[in-house]
Amino acid sequence: MRVYEITDNPEVVRRLLGHESLSATSAYLDIDKVKAISVRPVSPQGGSVQDVDRLTKGQRSELMSRIRGKDTRPELLVRRLAHSLGYRYRLHGSKLPGRPDLVFASRRKIILVHGCFWHGHTCKRGAPPATNRGFWTAKLKRNQARDLRNIRSLRQDGWRVLVLWECDMADPAKLRRRLRTFLD
Ligand SMILES: [Zn+2]
Repeated sequence: MRVYEITDNPEVVRRLLGHESLSATSAYLDIDKVKAISVRPVSPQGGSVQDVDRLTKGQRSELMSRIRGKDTRPELLVRRLAHSLGYRYRLHGSKLPGRPDLVFASRRKIILVHGCFWHGHTCKRGAPPATNRGFWTAKLKRNQARDLRNIRSLRQDGWRVLVLWECDMADPAKLRRRLRTFLD
């Protein structure tokens, strides 16, 4: 299950739990099934992960907009492969447009690892959820436009940019070859 952590807004977490006697510091959401939201109660002790889907459309949208992928598994896989091939990189170059994921400064190359959902890939995972489609279509379009702007501006500054998608992770051997070809 692919899980994203949300920023901890006590109000939102409380609403998600929908139960005064439970408390939690964070909530998780499975983006493969956008409607299924899991909350991990921290008290009472060791409460198991609870599936909760008590939000209205508006609340869910608000919640989704707060969710950020951080050190996602696809990015970790790419880092591990690049490292095993002997390439060294910096993470999230903070002075570059869009804070690119992996920066190979001496080669002037950049790798972006995009989640199919958030970056609106043209694969099955990239399709906007059926619920609140208008909201999602607009949001994902904005994300895509921002990606394009960032990539264009990096390329104008002389960076070579490779975009890898979450669904590319399915074939690590092929991914490895692509990394080597790009980075050489
Ligand atoms: Zn994809």
